[in-house]
Amino acid sequence: MLKVLDSAVPVACWSCAVAHNDATLFCPHCSKIQPPPGGDYFSVFGLVPQLDLDLGMLEHQFHKLSRKLHPDRFARAQENEKQWSLADTALLNDAYRTLRNPIRRTEYLLKLHGAEIGEEHAGKDRKDPSRVPADLLEEAFDLNMQLEEMRMAKKMGDTDPELQSSLEQAKTKFDGLLDEVDRDLRAQWKVWDVGDENVRQESQKKMVALLDRRRYINNLVRDVTETLGA
Ligand SMILES: [Zn+2]
Repeated sequence: MLKVLDSAVPVACWSCAVAHNDATLFCPHCSKIQPPPGGDYFSVFGLVPQLDLDLGMLEHQFHKLSRKLHPDRFARAQENEKQWSLADTALLNDAYRTLRNPIRRTEYLLKLHGAEIGEEHAGKDRKDPSRVPADLLEEAFDLNMQLEEMRMAKKMGDTDPELQSSLEQAKTKFDGLLDEVDRDLRAQWKVWDVGDENVRQESQKKMVALLDRRRYINNLVRDVTETLGA
């Protein structure tokens, strides 16, 4: 279970014993490396948890910390410091990969705030009709029929230019729908970032639905790409 960092809880530095919050990779007092912190990914970079993140700042902090954690700097360090430099580097890389990707960042931060995302609340069967966004029901059904037809044709070694072009058109359309979902998500980021608890709850619900929709459309696009490319 992910938890929002309570930075009010200080830990003592193993080296100088001065207390600091359990988010930092290096002691602010003596600069010594610390064991992997228990906080969230944002706090690793000293960033306020928000969806509309300053990616320039994230990248800057990532490179700065990566350099400070470089194994060469720990060549003559104690054994535990060497181990921490590896563990902190692994944590830093995971955190960076998650936060720089807009979708993974959104899922991560909403999970920190208790949202259940994707398979956790929707079941693993993506063909479950209750999960199909209502406005896409018919189109998704038609598309799946066409995909099945295309797979059969390919299996038989047939070509079907008309079906091919129809599937390509469908892909273009669903790509456009994905762009729309991403625009809507970005708009919700701004709502969530500045909202109070009630506003955030509402916005969170909308984003969970958008993420579901995005995953569903993404799967369709992937199926079309795979079928056309096979
Ligand atoms: Zn210290």
